[in-house]
Amino acid sequence: MVSTPVKVGALVGGACLVALGLGLLVASPLKTPDAAPQVSLSVSPTASASETAGPPTTAGVTIGQGKGPHDPPASSQVATTSPSPSASPDATVSPAPSGSQSAAANGASLAGRVVALDPGHQSGPGSNEQVADGRGGTKACNNSGTSTNAGYPEYEFTWDVVQRIRALLEAQGATVHVTKSTIDELVCVDQRGTFGQDSGSEIMVSIHGDGNSDPNFKGFFGIVSSPPVNDAQGEPSLELARAVLDQLAAAGFTQNPAMPNGIQPRYDIAGVALSEVPVVMFELGEMRNAEEAALMSSEEGRERYAQAVAAGITDYLLAHPK
Ligand SMILES: [Zn+2]
Repeated sequence: MVSTPVKVGALVGGACLVALGLGLLVASPLKTPDAAPQVSLSVSPTASASETAGPPTTAGVTIGQGKGPHDPPASSQVATTSPSPSASPDATVSPAPSGSQSAAANGASLAGRVVALDPGHQSGPGSNEQVADGRGGTKACNNSGTSTNAGYPEYEFTWDVVQRIRALLEAQGATVHVTKSTIDELVCVDQRGTFGQDSGSEIMVSIHGDGNSDPNFKGFFGIVSSPPVNDAQGEPSLELARAVLDQLAAAGFTQNPAMPNGIQPRYDIAGVALSEVPVVMFELGEMRNAEEAALMSSEEGRERYAQAVAAGITDYLLAHPK
């Protein structure tokens, strides 16, 4: 999870992801560690992300709590989105399965293609060491992420899913670089943010599980840098997000109805703001939601998530030849 949701002007501390209810965010200043910068995206009021999983914040709203592995909740980066009264929390919108027949399924080759994967968080408590946030400021190195109510930690989920995605992509001939070499390794958000270009990869995909404290909050979504710091963070990143979100929907997972088009624009996530290659952070599900916690805690569920993400990455790469 990332840490905080963003809302209109206020930042919340973060959880991996937090989501808020819709209209709530808008005017309720949550606790905001810092002033939140605002981003201009047209998204709805719900944002939460989490590079960091931050502490749950609640401000009258339900935000997810998370601890935040990624960027620490503290910084002042929040994306401000404009509240848009349109999204209804309950609407379970599931995007029409569009890309279900991925090229991956057709056995297309990814030989020569290079992908960076980032399993969010680590086993330890994280570190408050201040590192570059990609926006001219600093934020905490990383936090420990969230977990299911039964105690299954986000970092175990992200590590396992990334290993599976890696295997699927490598089986198609791709070269895959991963930010961590062991599940316990502490890698700060700034290093994760620059890993795509540092490793010579074409794209960067970060995997997380959100920790909204509202047990009814459910669904996957993608976090993108907003406003983009460079061209790669703009349209190419949105295309990458869409490719993966479509495959997750086609695989039967639920898209978070609180995030318009499944996208949460964030100003405060170093993991995406520092990237020079197309980058998206995915919150694959809500770890405090019973149904998704069960999926994320099972090997079968993790394999399904991995296959969908790998199929989306494959679709994107094949649509963007080197
Ligand atoms: Zn996370």
